[in-house]
Amino acid sequence: MTPPIGYISTRSRAAPRGFREIVLEGLAPDGGLYLPEALPPCPAPPADPFPPAYADLALEVLRPFCDVAEPRLREWIAAAYSTFRDSRVAPVVRRGDVWILELFHGPTLAFKDIALQFLGRLFDALLAEKGETLNIVAATSGDTGSAAIHGVRGCRNIRIFVLHPRGRVSPLQERQMTSVLDPNVFNLAVDGTFDDCQRIIKTLFRDVAFKRERRLGAVNSVNWARVLAQMVYYFSAGWTVLRETGAERVRFAVPTGNFGDIFAGYLAARMGLPVERLILATNENDILARFFATGEYRAAEVVPTLSPSMDIQVASNFERYLYYRLGGDPDRVRDAMETFDREGRFFAPDAARDPLMAAGRADSEQTLATIRTFWERHGYVLDPHTAVGVAVGRRPGMGEAPLICLATAHPAKFPDAVRRATGRDLAHHEILDALWNLPTRVERMPADVARIRDYIAAHTA
Ligand SMILES: *Cc1c(COP(=O)(O)O)cnc(C)c1O
Repeated sequence: MTPPIGYISTRSRAAPRGFREIVLEGLAPDGGLYLPEALPPCPAPPADPFPPAYADLALEVLRPFCDVAEPRLREWIAAAYSTFRDSRVAPVVRRGDVWILELFHGPTLAFKDIALQFLGRLFDALLAEKGETLNIVAATSGDTGSAAIHGVRGCRNIRIFVLHPRGRVSPLQERQMTSVLDPNVFNLAVDGTFDDCQRIIKTLFRDVAFKRERRLGAVNSVNWARVLAQMVYYFSAGWTVLRETGAERVRFAVPTGNFGDIFAGYLAARMGLPVERLILATNENDILARFFATGEYRAAEVVPTLSPSMDIQVASNFERYLYYRLGGDPDRVRDAMETFDREGRFFAPDAARDPLMAAGRADSEQTLATIRTFWERHGYVLDPHTAVGVAVGRRPGMGEAPLICLATAHPAKFPDAVRRATGRDLAHHEILDALWNLPTRVERMPADVARIRDYIAAHTA
């Protein structure tokens, strides 16, 4: 037996720590993000049966990273992916000259389910081992809230409190959250904006005594287990397309916001998956596309777009990539991030010159045109996030190998964009249509920290 992989921080040379600790902790104490001290060798593509069951492949990919007995890991993986509506979990389908990797068959019809269904089970089991409980508190402008709720519903050792701005998330997204009636799920509709919700949560977390006493925590996008779960589909889709085409390498086009999804692909490539290029696609919020063009990482105002889950300016997982590109030197990473905090930008031109990466942005007009032409040519409806990836991935100069485009949401979640693009009402899903008939539970609250603190206290006693 090789010893289990230890985890280091991107910002210090502290001794490596165990998988269980760092997963529950999320962020390193020095403010850095956790990374494995070394990557295991690339798993061999399975020969027979092909394709393997997704859960088997996931076990193969995840096992070396997790210091967990195999039967338990197998059980969590099986439970996580049994909620998916397609038994292949993340199928890849060919449409014209591109392969669409469908990551939207989970309970909320978006790719975040792949990580959060796994993370929920993992957290619940690790907490049970320690005899502890956790109260997750989160604010959402729509999308991540429902994936987090569905990830932990029914977990015995976790409660979740999700604040959303009342009347300011799409009715569909609101229903996806409030129709979950499990007793460990608390939806709070706050009379205010998303910024008010975030401010309330920051204030609660700053109250260290309350946070400790009530065991408050987060399931944020920088948790290592989320990246880990996302690596699996790069292998499954990559191997499928290599086999179907006889090509030597593949390309992936990834609609990007926080850099978590594409970073999982980066690790798969570092482990030896034959990737010619990772194509990073952004909407008008293009801090990452600008970085790869200029070597300067500089924040700008967030503008609302057709692909709201990519409307971010500071990409929380980018620091992990930077660590590798700055020679694994935590001092250089810390310098860069401190400069960014102070000045809103830093330069790292060497880091940006990466032959594995290509980047571009697609604006609203290009997104709509891509949805329209893809539907006309292939009879396949793309959601606006996926369309950004397809638009950028198909541009000339982005490589030669077969192109796999990650489809990160089901189009029925964004019916308005689809209608604008095609003039038709094409985007439906029975699960979303059924939402309108389900009972809901939600607590209306003022945008008042004290009232929300009292509510949480009353429900965590
Ligand atoms: C979160 C999300 C993305 C962006 O993924 P990152 O890991 O943040 O880069 C893209 N599309 C959809 C639909 C998402 O929900």
